[in-house]
Amino acid sequence: MLDHDHDHDVALDLTPDRGGRKRISIYQPEQEGLIFPETPDFESVAAEREYRKQHLVAACRAFAMHGFDYGFAGHLTVRDPERPELYWTNPMCVHFSQVKMSNLILADHKGEVVEGTHAINRAGFVLHAAVHEEYPDVMAMCHAHTVYGTAWCATGRPLDMISQDAAAFYNSHAVIGASAGAVAVEKESGWSVAREIGRNRGVLHQNHGLLTTSRHSIDDAAFWFIALERACRQQLLVEATGIKPQVVSEKTAKYSREHVGSDYIGWLHFQTLYSHIAATQPDMFE
Ligand SMILES: [Zn+2]
Repeated sequence: MLDHDHDHDVALDLTPDRGGRKRISIYQPEQEGLIFPETPDFESVAAEREYRKQHLVAACRAFAMHGFDYGFAGHLTVRDPERPELYWTNPMCVHFSQVKMSNLILADHKGEVVEGTHAINRAGFVLHAAVHEEYPDVMAMCHAHTVYGTAWCATGRPLDMISQDAAAFYNSHAVIGASAGAVAVEKESGWSVAREIGRNRGVLHQNHGLLTTSRHSIDDAAFWFIALERACRQQLLVEATGIKPQVVSEKTAKYSREHVGSDYIGWLHFQTLYSHIAATQPDMFE
């Protein structure tokens, strides 16, 4: 198994931009006045809620674009900014592509819908509530039954560091065998998985599927979910050749994890998807 010296989001020694503002990523331009996504500051809790909900909707639609739907399986959650014991999630039996502002639901840890008209996904509540309760700093979480992720999960093996992309999960993903393959509708099943997640960004739940958590944003959780599915796909492709892959060194994997695999970078990657979805699917705001 991997050892877990979790060094998330290290402070990088970067020169400030030309306006004197601190940079946290090499991708942030030094030059002023260029179009570049900025992490928002909010003037009210209502504005922050609106932002989180819009980005949750976009995350669901990004999952639809990537073909992550499987009937009613799959759920995404983000905490409410004012009442962090409550979380926003996608409604039961609504396709990821049809999730919109008006059909999101707000639920508590007991699975009661406190705002919204749709029912909640029972398995979603059991798994997500357990994780959100176990880790008060987990802001968002994604889970779906994807083809390549679920296939790789059956091997019970962690990912090899075969690429820079895979290195985003260096020392930050785990294979969980507890309740493997069991439908997570029983409370104990959710807890047994939650307890083993720790500070891992990605989880390969054996015989079940992938999940990601974020202490940053739904954007971050959603992007690294897409990346994790992709890493599983790449690993399966390499395995299928029968050729033993070259892997990146631990030093390189660690460097990649710190520089191009941070929570901020997950958020930043997702802004590309957010802009595309907001521009092409304006019904998301209805
Ligand atoms: Zn599931």
